[in-house]
Amino acid sequence: MGDIMKIGFIGLGIMGKPMVKNLLKAGHEVVAYDIVAENLQAAVRDGAVAGKNAAAIAAVCPVVITMLPNSPHVKTVVMEKDGILESAKAGLILIDMSSIAPLASKEICEACKKKGVRMLDAPVSGGEPKAIDGSLSIMVGGDKALFEEMKPILSCMGASIVLCGDVGAGNTTKLANQMIVAGNIAVLAEALTLAKKAGVDPETVFQAIKGGLAGSTVMNAKAPMMIEGNFKPGFRIDLHIKDLNNALETGHKIGAPMFLTANVQEMFEILHADGCGSDDHSGLAKYYAKISGSKIGK
Ligand code: NAD
Repeated sequence: MGDIMKIGFIGLGIMGKPMVKNLLKAGHEVVAYDIVAENLQAAVRDGAVAGKNAAAIAAVCPVVITMLPNSPHVKTVVMEKDGILESAKAGLILIDMSSIAPLASKEICEACKKKGVRMLDAPVSGGEPKAIDGSLSIMVGGDKALFEEMKPILSCMGASIVLCGDVGAGNTTKLANQMIVAGNIAVLAEALTLAKKAGVDPETVFQAIKGGLAGSTVMNAKAPMMIEGNFKPGFRIDLHIKDLNNALETGHKIGAPMFLTANVQEMFEILHADGCGSDDHSGLAKYYAKISGSKIGK
């Protein structure tokens, strides 16, 4: 384990809260902040100190971690009034662990550089269960020396920590991850709907194929949810819409084809319009139920 540090942590939602717990468990001191008072109170109950705002945290912590919904939230917390750069001294280290657009990471990094602040983008995959047990996969972009320096801190929250390239590369890798997860969930819902309509029990199909080539982490996590009709998040549809929008925007800018991603994005949009944006992304099963007239679950 590395040195004990005073770490700022901003964004205490589904992911941020257990990540803070793991930093505390490793012996670090955490100064936390969230605009939602009850989220901040929960972190304080876990042992964190409450910060007044992002600027106040950056004034007292040499390392600040952000775990916020999307690019605009990170820009606000870093670059606007009462934000990190308002009080940051040269040498401060910002680790943005939110999943945001790679171009936004680069913009934020440029603003940081002007103040002598060093930055890594370090989005994660693994969801709430792996945030709780500290075994997230962390995809990092930034300077190699800074990556090595921050690895002991990242290790408190993750099991796989990979440097993917310069700042923005962590989020590019995360977009690839989100595209693959979305496509997998969609075809899983499509296939289990086919089985149900053809009169074969979806649970039997799952048990029969999960050990073969079609088996996957996505299948193991999401098939049981579809079969139970349990769409409690987990990972919310609205967050996946955000990630696929970032993927489509990036793909369109650089000329990468995005046929499958665009289709799944539209399915998610229909569910959002139906009031299901806060369901788990396995709720794609509901889209197939709607268009096929047949539910996978009971
Ligand atoms: P969440 O919505 O539960 O948490 C975000 C938190 O940020 C909330 O508590 C919110 O109040 C806070 N916040 C928003 N604006 C703020 C501001 N200006 N100042 C301070 N706090 C602010 O989201 P989450 O599920 O914890 O996800 C966080 C990030 O991690 C997202 O980018 C998401 O895509 C990514 N992610 C989530 C999962 C998952 O399974 N939930 C998995 C991997 C990655």
